[in-house]
Amino acid sequence: MNVLNWSDLWLGTLGAVISYTVILTIIFLTLVTSFRLLISRRKIGYFSIMISLLILIVQYFQLIQFQLTQTEGSIANFIALLLKVISFIFVNIGVYQLYNATKLKDTIVVILVIVMTAFVSLTYWYMPDWIQGSAEQIQLMQPLGMELYLFLLIFVSFLLLNPRIGQNGKYQLMLTFYFCSHMIHMTNLYLFNNQQAILRKFEQLIPIAFHVVLFLFIFERVIEIMQAIYNSSITDGLTKLYNRKYFYNRVNQHVAQKIAVTVIFSDIDNFKKLNDTKGHHMGDLVLKQVAQIVKEEAEHIGICGRYGGEEMVVLVTDTEVDASELAERIRARVEAETIVTVSMGYSYFRKNISAEELIKQADEAMYKAKTSGKNKVVAYG
Ligand code: GH3
Ligand code: MG
Ligand code: MG
Repeated sequence: MNVLNWSDLWLGTLGAVISYTVILTIIFLTLVTSFRLLISRRKIGYFSIMISLLILIVQYFQLIQFQLTQTEGSIANFIALLLKVISFIFVNIGVYQLYNATKLKDTIVVILVIVMTAFVSLTYWYMPDWIQGSAEQIQLMQPLGMELYLFLLIFVSFLLLNPRIGQNGKYQLMLTFYFCSHMIHMTNLYLFNNQQAILRKFEQLIPIAFHVVLFLFIFERVIEIMQAIYNSSITDGLTKLYNRKYFYNRVNQHVAQKIAVTVIFSDIDNFKKLNDTKGHHMGDLVLKQVAQIVKEEAEHIGICGRYGGEEMVVLVTDTEVDASELAERIRARVEAETIVTVSMGYSYFRKNISAEELIKQADEAMYKAKTSGKNKVVAYG
């Protein structure tokens, strides 16, 4: 009876099949994630990645078959190599598309790459006519054109794609793993006639690392998307301040914990007139300028939001800060730096007050500032 030992699991046919199975499992997970994202986001990048993964699945099943049946023919070798090159091209296209809108220029580049791939793959079949030598030498030289072409593709990806990709640390790592695995493959094939078992093992193991990083790359993209959706659900698109709902919830949270916060309420003076005389576009620009001032002044000491059209609010959470001084600073800066002025009111937290009442009091104080001449700060009460 044959008894398996540890080195069998590691080296030899079984070792190779185990490595390929691990890779197939990771590819499958990445495929399911990409499919899920493709359905909900309809982004072409996931489609390209899926094509690449499906090609890889075929390729790894073919490699397992090679291991089990030891029947590497010339055509089978060619197909394996072609699948390797095509899947590499598609995974890069996919990663690029996840971070960039596909333009006509990109489509032309892809078509050129495909045409070039077709030409390079011809060298596999013409090599026997070009060189002279023993059958073994010819067999060794046949894939050289495509193997070197893959190096070229790795370098081009490094130079041209890498700067245009969001998570480029992970992408660089992927390319580096791919490069190492390919380098080891070439070294083993051309220097050691594929006889170095340890190099062959590395050739099988490094793609595991590559596929783990690819999976994490796509997983991270999911997190990025969720983060972006969450951020846009709590902020206002124009001013990038928090929206009314989020601001109210934060006030509520502090009030419930009886923290001595202050709410400052501001409203731009005669804003309708500005819109009417200088146009909505100018109005938007001024809104952004005022929001920026509020944000700069309230940073680190509180939370600022856009409460309504041209109403901005600050929740001062730092109990050391003098709210009237802060409000006065904002008012003075708006007057000095923009073409508008603001009227402001503020109110302190008192026992048994609700978030709604606190905001309403600050609003009332602001209204007093409006009715008593505008461009001033008024305290509630
Ligand atoms: P007051 O000094 O009494 O505050 O006068 P006002 O004209 O500022 O007050 P009112 O509330 O009547 O006008 C607010 C205007 O703000 C009305 C609306 O057209 C404008 N507005 C609201 N949201 C936006 C926006 O997002 N962009 C622009 N450009 N205008 C906005
Ligand atoms: Mg106004
Ligand atoms: Mg208003």
